Amino acid sequence: MAEIRLEHVSKRWGSFVGVNDFDLTIADREFLVLLGPSGCGKTTTMRMIAGLEDATEGNIVIGDRVVNDLDPKDRDVAMVFQSYGLYPNMNVYENIRFPLKVRKVDPASHDERVMRAAEMVELTEFLHRKPAELSGGQRQRVALARAIVREPTVFLMDEPLSNLDAKLRVSTRAQIKNLQHELKVTTIYVTHDQIEAMTLADRVVVMNKGVVQQVGTPTEIYDNPANTFVAGFIGSPAMNLMEGEVTQGTFRGRNVEIAGIEAPDGPVTLGFRAEDATLAEGGAGQITAPIYTLELLGDATMISVRAGGALVAVKAHKEFRAEIGDTVSIAIPPGICHVFDTQSGARLD
Ligand code: ATP
Repeated sequence: MAEIRLEHVSKRWGSFVGVNDFDLTIADREFLVLLGPSGCGKTTTMRMIAGLEDATEGNIVIGDRVVNDLDPKDRDVAMVFQSYGLYPNMNVYENIRFPLKVRKVDPASHDERVMRAAEMVELTEFLHRKPAELSGGQRQRVALARAIVREPTVFLMDEPLSNLDAKLRVSTRAQIKNLQHELKVTTIYVTHDQIEAMTLADRVVVMNKGVVQQVGTPTEIYDNPANTFVAGFIGSPAMNLMEGEVTQGTFRGRNVEIAGIEAPDGPVTLGFRAEDATLAEGGAGQITAPIYTLELLGDATMISVRAGGALVAVKAHKEFRAEIGDTVSIAIPPGICHVFDTQSGARLD
C-alpha cells in the first residue's frame, strides 16, 4: 500500500517561495502527473518526495510513515530522470542490476529480476552492450528497467522523455503507461508537455508559480478548467480567451457578440475551444472578421482571426480553403462558452 500524502507542503529559499502549500493525497497505484511551465515548482515537489530537498513546512507521508526525516535511500522510491544517469563502463545487464547490488539484495535472485525487468522494456537483446552503443530511446529504457528492478513502492519520473525525438517519445510514453499499469506502482510524473500529461495521467496537477491551480482527471481539466491559466495551458491549441463585457446576458467585445451568456453584467473573459466552433454562412456567426492565419493540418484546416483582443483559433473542415484577409463568420453557440472573471481569472460558470 503506497498512498502518498503531501500535507500543506511548502518550500522556501529565503523569501522566494518555490512551492506554496501543496496539499494532496495520491492514491495507491495512481498515476499522477505534475504539469506546468518552467519554474513552476514541479521538480522541487518531486525532490521533496524523494528526499533530495527538505520541505520548509508540512509533512510528506508515504504509506503510513512520515518520511520528512528519512534519507532518500530509506524512502523506497525509484527515480527516473531526463538524463539517464547510466554507468558508461557497465553494460546494460550490469546497469540494471546495480540497484540490487547496492541494496544488498540476495544475489541468487539478481539474474531473474534483471531478466524480467529487461524483458518488460524490450532490452533482452542488448544486455551485453555499453550505454554508448545504444540509441537515446534504448538508454531511456535501461533507466526505466533499473527503476523497475528494485520493485519500489513509488516511481518518481522527472521529464523522462524530454531527450527523445517526437516519434520515440510517443512509443516510450505508451510503454511507460503500460508498465505502470502492469506493475501497479504509485507513480508521480513531472512534465511541461500537456499532451504527455493528458495521455498518461489518472489525475493531473496543474501548477503555476509554485501554486497548484487545479487537480483533476484529464477530462475534468480539459472540459472544466478552473481558471484562465489552466484554460490557456491545456489543449492544442489552448482555449481561445476573449476580453469583453456582458450586458443583460450578451457578451460584447471587439468583432464579437454572443447572446445567451449566463454571467452578471460587467467585464468577463470568455473562452471556447477551437474545435467546438464552426464556420457560419453569410455572416450569421458571432464573430465576423478577416482571416489572420490559415494552416492546413491534414485532418482539418485551422484558421485564426482577431476578436476580443486576442487571436482566436477555429478548426474548419479539412477541405476549407480561403485567403488570408478574406472575411469569415464563426458560429459560437453560448453552450460552448466558458466564463472567467477578468481580474482573478477564476471560472464563473
Ligand atoms: P522546469 O520545468 O524548468 O524544470 P520546475 O517546474 O521543475 O521547472 P523547479 O525546478 O521546481 O521548477 O523550480 C521552482 C522554482 O524554484 C524556480 O523558480 C527555481 O528557480 C527555484 N529554485 C529551485 N531550486 C532552487 C534553489 N536551490 N535555490 C533557490 N531557488 C531555487
